[in-house]
Amino acid sequence: MQSNYNVLIIGGGPGGAMAGKAVVDAGLSCCIIEKRPAIGAPVRCAEGVGHEISELVDLDPKWISSKINGAQLVAPDGQILELNPEMAGNEVGYVLDRKIFDRELVWKAANAGCDVFVKSRASSAIIKNGKVCGAIIETGGKTLEVHADVVIAADGVESKFARWCGIDTTVPVAEIETCVQYLMTNLDIDPGLNSFYLGREVAPEGYVWIFSKGERTANVGIGISGKMCRDGKRPKDYLDAFIAEHLPNGKIIELIVGGVSACKPLECTVADGLIIVGDAARLSDPITGGGIINAMYTGKLAGEVAAECIASGDCSKKALMKYDVAWRDSKMGRGLKRNYQVKEIFIKLKDEKLNSIVNSVNKLDMEIFDTKYLIRELVKYNPWLLKDIGTLR
Ligand code: FAD
Repeated sequence: MQSNYNVLIIGGGPGGAMAGKAVVDAGLSCCIIEKRPAIGAPVRCAEGVGHEISELVDLDPKWISSKINGAQLVAPDGQILELNPEMAGNEVGYVLDRKIFDRELVWKAANAGCDVFVKSRASSAIIKNGKVCGAIIETGGKTLEVHADVVIAADGVESKFARWCGIDTTVPVAEIETCVQYLMTNLDIDPGLNSFYLGREVAPEGYVWIFSKGERTANVGIGISGKMCRDGKRPKDYLDAFIAEHLPNGKIIELIVGGVSACKPLECTVADGLIIVGDAARLSDPITGGGIINAMYTGKLAGEVAAECIASGDCSKKALMKYDVAWRDSKMGRGLKRNYQVKEIFIKLKDEKLNSIVNSVNKLDMEIFDTKYLIRELVKYNPWLLKDIGTLR
């Protein structure tokens, strides 16, 4: 490992990999540090992504476990809302195989010239005169200082790097979705359909998902608000009860646990010499918890902005703000803002109100589906919604 790079990236997930590729494509030196011994494993994800992933990378068929053409939402009273591709938006697309996908993204960065070090952990930040200028790395039993013009923190939901640089990254307990997921087989499911189950009894302030991984196999998981967890009412308790009722013949072949932030993004995602991307910047979707595409988009953008700033000789917070402004102004940034407000409304809804919404959406004419029509019809059947929707900007 060199002791100097133009850009040092902490974390080899989708955010770090895209950043690394963008930096070396701009002709600069770059290094990705990943604490785990293998990129992409263990998987802590339901692996669902929307079609728009193709705007960021050429999808290789071997990265895809399942192609998803539709989704269904199951209300607390069991009513089913079938979402066609237009309504389902990001929920139709693909279920990836992240063991392969994450590794290949890093592979692409490495092939383009980025150095990669696995089983290498950043243990603190190097800060001089208020500017982040590298990290202390524990690797192969040694402790090294690695210096860089810009450090990109892509260290995921468990991110510590930005905190070491003095940035408050705390997520309130109520805004952490605590998740458990099984990979299950022997399931009678439609391999082209993803399902979401709602309701206080099923998943308080969260949902259960069944994301197809192909014939008879799926990621079956649950996320519930951290504040709802207590003895006997933990995510695994809810998930096991769900499986006993809905998938009694399924066989569990893998178990994962993890957390997803459902909070607002960090107030500022840059500092002198530092850019924060993906989950580390709290950029997963507050409603769905999806963060793969957001991490990829912000990782790529961070790599490009870092390269530009290095070329101009100015890696100050002011110069790097171009990154912060760009993602907030993007479709992703605007979507995160809106979805945070929508989430705040929906987590407060009682089951009867959720049932009523699903019931009224089921009455809609899908041929003329658009947002204005949806809101007008929803309010017609659920006048109480007017007050809440009025708070959406
Ligand atoms: P990560 O993928 O988390 O990568 C960060 C990397 O940094 C990790 O490999 C970690 O080992 C490494 N790292 C951390 N600290 C250090 C350190 N000090 N030194 C070196 N390396 C370090 N998103 C979706 O889009 N669709 C889904 O269906 C979906 N389902 C999910 C289900 C669950 C149960 C969970 C927990 C998450 C889910 N997500 C989903 C979220 C998704 O996994 C993340 O948004 C995405 O992985 C974020 O990418 P990232 O690159 O920011 O971070």
